[in-house]
Amino acid sequence: MLSRVRSIAILMWAWVSGVAVAAPLDDFAVEPVAPGHYVHFGSLDERTPANVGDQANIGFVVGEQCVAVIDPGGSLAVGKALAASIRRTTDKPVCFVVITHFHPDHFFGAAAFVAPGVQIITHDGYRRALNQRARPYLNALQRDLGDLARGSDIVQPTVTVKASHTIDLGGRILRLEAWPVAHTDNDLTVFDESTGTLWLGDLLFHQHTPVVDGSVLGFIKVLDTLAARPVSRYIPGHGRTTLPWPDGLAQERAYLQLLVRETRAALKARKGIEEAVDSVGQSEASQWSNFESFHRRNVTATYTELEWE
Ligand SMILES: [Zn+2]
Repeated sequence: MLSRVRSIAILMWAWVSGVAVAAPLDDFAVEPVAPGHYVHFGSLDERTPANVGDQANIGFVVGEQCVAVIDPGGSLAVGKALAASIRRTTDKPVCFVVITHFHPDHFFGAAAFVAPGVQIITHDGYRRALNQRARPYLNALQRDLGDLARGSDIVQPTVTVKASHTIDLGGRILRLEAWPVAHTDNDLTVFDESTGTLWLGDLLFHQHTPVVDGSVLGFIKVLDTLAARPVSRYIPGHGRTTLPWPDGLAQERAYLQLLVRETRAALKARKGIEEAVDSVGQSEASQWSNFESFHRRNVTATYTELEWE
């Protein structure tokens, strides 16, 4: 019944907007990337009713007793599609939902997994950061998705991580690590030592323009710490890559370093913020998707951060 209601809503949206579309998420797929690890690669497009907020790379890890979801996705519809993929893959229950950080494309699907005994785990800074943006995030979701946003909601964590924390899925231990300010001030990574698999959240972007919503200098520092770690496989928060570890960090690191270098030069030349935003990092435009939407904000954030050093 629910899916019928959703289909009708989608058909009405298609009719109102005058375009023919396949129902969103009808082709929602997960790919095995390591033993027990499954990833759904999100769209690189901006949020629209056609993708229902399915933009981030999300997935799950299966143990002998439990499943851990790693990011429930950008809307209730995405969370439900992920839950259905889990049911098709294993009969083990979801015991943990790990949210890598407070950006809407990663967390708004959490309501699909709320149930007695399910732990919702985030960085210690998540709750405070999200509470500051809760209203604008909800308004923007409603603006972009209309009725398709219904049921997507902010779910508060039941467990928060200050430094590190392990969860046991049965025969598989996942190590969660809370990072200092980088992409955001509440970035959490997930590492499975048994397969050497690292889920990076938005500490790593491929194809999609990286986003600085914390500290550009902190971001580079965290990438350098991560690069020294032994990792067999890794999952970026956006985009795909086949590069070996840690080579897959290099392009994002180079972009962030360019932001720092050219912003420092702009400050030294006494350029105002608007002039800096128009010039810094423009040589990177062809390298990344969504550059127009995110790059200018990154320069603004970098300028504000470096202005007083
Ligand atoms: Zn993010």
